[in-house]
Amino acid sequence: MYDIPFLRPNLVKKEQLLPYFENIEASRIYSNYGPLNHLFETRVIAQMFGGTGAAVTVHNATIGLMLAISQCKRPRGKYAVMPSFTFAATPLAAEWCGLEPYFLDIEPDDWQMNRAQLEETVGRLGDQIAVVVPYATFGSAIDLTLYDKLLQDGIPVVIDAAASFGTTAAENTAQFGKGFGGAVVFSFHATKTFGVGEGGLVYSADQNLIQRIRQAGNFGFSSSRESVMLGLNSKLSEYTAAIALATLEGFQAVRERRQTIIGYYHRELQQQNLLLRGWSSQKMQGQVPLQFFSMLSPDSSGNREVIRKLASHSIEARTYFSPACHQQKQFQSCSHSDLRATEWIADRIVSLPLWEEMNEATVRRIVKVLGSMTEENAI
Ligand SMILES: *Cc1c(COP(=O)(O)O)cnc(C)c1O
Repeated sequence: MYDIPFLRPNLVKKEQLLPYFENIEASRIYSNYGPLNHLFETRVIAQMFGGTGAAVTVHNATIGLMLAISQCKRPRGKYAVMPSFTFAATPLAAEWCGLEPYFLDIEPDDWQMNRAQLEETVGRLGDQIAVVVPYATFGSAIDLTLYDKLLQDGIPVVIDAAASFGTTAAENTAQFGKGFGGAVVFSFHATKTFGVGEGGLVYSADQNLIQRIRQAGNFGFSSSRESVMLGLNSKLSEYTAAIALATLEGFQAVRERRQTIIGYYHRELQQQNLLLRGWSSQKMQGQVPLQFFSMLSPDSSGNREVIRKLASHSIEARTYFSPACHQQKQFQSCSHSDLRATEWIADRIVSLPLWEEMNEATVRRIVKVLGSMTEENAI
């Protein structure tokens, strides 16, 4: 056990669930897009997406990505173009859809898919591209102009926005993804900021796309319960929808609490001069209620040393996403562009603790350990 664990998920308490559980007992509907799933989808669209677009609940984001890719992909395409710097679920979902991941690099500052490489790859691979799958890195919003243009050119786009539920777009206070015509996939895993255990949501401004995903997620059934498309079972139970409804009620407080802790990190990094000593963090877009706090170590000896040092102070940290996807056995044979920034960042990335009961002293203790590692070259 660590004094300071990496994450301490804190899901909604049972008292908040009771009224919804009573609804389930009264209706005796336990799944199949029942009333609580419907209510949750309706509230999400009204409260977070300003009434624009449609959404369907899914059992987890991985299956949401699979369904979205499967419903969007161009039939003659071969590749799912995506960053290597993402969670393994992104390329795995593409492989389950019979596609080959094609890995691109990330930008050195905001750690999002490299825009010049994307344009070059779209030009070079042309019709061989089945779908483009950007990842909204660590919950940050991304500029969707480029992806709107791809959609206009007939290239499907599915955004892995697993950690971005609760993130606002850079230009306004709406939920990131609002109005986007491709699919936007969110995760509600317990370790995410909006955590329900296992769950997720697919959003799109394209109601028709959401309707197809809903149908595919229920065995591809038509209204006469005939399977008419490649389906599977991705449905969220009514119990989990109850948790999601209660979580939505308390979500504003969770977002604010996380912003406060992120503020502690920024203050401590400044006060202890870490940014002048070569440490750096991600350039974010929008208000992002982070799942954890990511930093790049200045040291080429890399992040393993930082993890060991933190552990010796009873602080648990991780290295998301190191190894990057192209460095993992399952994806080693996939095609990729030059991945210099990905590899540079994968060697240096450190994921620091973030959970709601952390206070300023906890954050100070973590940042102090980082500072002690670069003391020798202090300014
Ligand atoms: C968490 C995460 C997923 C997987 O979400 P699940 O709901 O656990 O399937 C996919 N992609 C990224 C980038 C994630 O962070």
